[in-house]
Amino acid sequence: MAKEHKVTLIPGDGIGPELVETVKDVVAGIGVQVAWEVVEAGEDAMKKHGTPLPDFVLDSVRRTKVALKGPITTPIGTGFRSINVALRKELDLFACLRPCKTFKGVKSNFKDVDLVIVRENTEDLYAGVEFLNESPEAKQIIEWAKGKIHPGANISIKPISKANSERIARFAFEYAVKHDRKRVTAVSKANIMKFTDGLFFETCREVAKRYPTIQYDERLIDAICMQLVIKPSDFDVILLPNLYGDILSDLCAGLIGGLGVAPGANIGNGTVLFEAVHGSAPKYKGLNKVNPTALLLSAQLMLAHLGETQAADRLEKAIASVIEDGGKSVTYDLGGTAGTREMGQAIVAKFKSLS
Ligand code: NAD
Repeated sequence: MAKEHKVTLIPGDGIGPELVETVKDVVAGIGVQVAWEVVEAGEDAMKKHGTPLPDFVLDSVRRTKVALKGPITTPIGTGFRSINVALRKELDLFACLRPCKTFKGVKSNFKDVDLVIVRENTEDLYAGVEFLNESPEAKQIIEWAKGKIHPGANISIKPISKANSERIARFAFEYAVKHDRKRVTAVSKANIMKFTDGLFFETCREVAKRYPTIQYDERLIDAICMQLVIKPSDFDVILLPNLYGDILSDLCAGLIGGLGVAPGANIGNGTVLFEAVHGSAPKYKGLNKVNPTALLLSAQLMLAHLGETQAADRLEKAIASVIEDGGKSVTYDLGGTAGTREMGQAIVAKFKSLS
């Protein structure tokens, strides 16, 4: 009998719940048995449990070690801090993996993108260490800075450590070796932030020496943005600290035709949370309209991680083939007329027709 996998499912909000339903239907439709443990995080959890990230969510992921998550809205400026960032920090999901590959049939300026973003997930300006100007901490920092900071400034702290830079660099090189990638390109702005980004480059360089079969080079973040939009096929594995990684992930999603087709995974020691790059797109909520590909490809990465490699490979082929066919089997953003659910059904039918 086929193995049943236990997976934590966080539906999220906005378009999250409808995407998650489609993913569940597809996984069941292709014959992989998953016992989903459904837990809520975000605004609904806040209303019901007084916190947007209840302990039972973290307990579930710690128990199952594998989670699939729909997007969660983060209030801007006020309200609770990002649940996505909190999940990564609490579970120490230190590596964010975002493969970017062009599919035939997706409108894009490029045909030959096949790169992977590896982003450090736990520190940098996402550490959540911020001070309002009137706080004693901000006042003290402004005094230390001796005129380099405007006296009215709010302050965000950017920590970058050798230990965390080393583990993300090792992750990137191990990934390159395992997935037959040829080159790792580290990215920072070390010419300006010499102590933080400088340490990141220095550490990546040291780690690179332990992987002689993988080429290593470096780019500044501004330069690589320009190079990527001109010739993305020049890049293979791109290794970045948190903030640059976040920004470049969306840029690369744009290179392959948009957020609807960009998957992702957040990986820690033994625990992995799979999620699409895109957010909760509230204006499309409940319309059965958005593209399920990004979350389905995230689920495809999850199936491979669970050892369901045959199903995972065939699912990727089925998704690619449905996208290539286009028309009434794909969603609006791919030029088609299908709803979210119907595109999922077309993928299951294609999966079954592939030998
Ligand atoms: P978004 O990714 O939600 O949407 C931006 C636009 O991209 C949408 O209006 C839509 O046109 C397109 N899009 C996104 N997903 C699509 C899909 N599956 N199919 C077709 N088109 C799609 O970005 P946003 O509007 O900046 O963010 C909305 C909320 O999501 C914010 O609160 C943000 O913080 C949150 N967010 C969450 C995550 C996460 O949960 N990991 C990631 C990014 C943003």
